[in-house]
Amino acid sequence: MSLIPVGQTAFSTLPDCGGAYGLLINLERGLLDAGPAGAPGTLMPGRYLYAGSANGPGGIRARVTRHARSKKQLHWHIDKLTTAGTIFAVHTWQQQRECEIVDACLATGQAAIAMPGFGSSDCRNCAAHLVRLTPCFDPRLLAARLGAAQSI
Ligand SMILES: [Zn+2]
Repeated sequence: MSLIPVGQTAFSTLPDCGGAYGLLINLERGLLDAGPAGAPGTLMPGRYLYAGSANGPGGIRARVTRHARSKKQLHWHIDKLTTAGTIFAVHTWQQQRECEIVDACLATGQAAIAMPGFGSSDCRNCAAHLVRLTPCFDPRLLAARLGAAQSI
């Protein structure tokens, strides 16, 4: 799996409709106090997948482009991680929800909940919307459960 950061121009090719996405993020150094308020924790260096959904104006393209900006107001848990780490791939599905992406990652046996509550404050299904990936994780494994992704 290549860890080369996604180039800025690639984000413009993402779909501008609603749907769910998985951001693959490489974190070179540990990230302190990365988690939900009241449950501080450290994210260790490594590779992560953050599952999100976007149904507002501009859809997936607008949301992921925001995630990729190096300067932004830190609003969500994921903002700290995308600021400290680099996005090296993005996979999108238009008919799925972010919770299904989390479930599909865990089902591969090559991912684990990264930090309880991370990105999932509004979710009753998932322990977190961020999973830590093993070096063997292959995003193609997700297709069996989610269908083929559009990817950059
Ligand atoms: Zn969920």
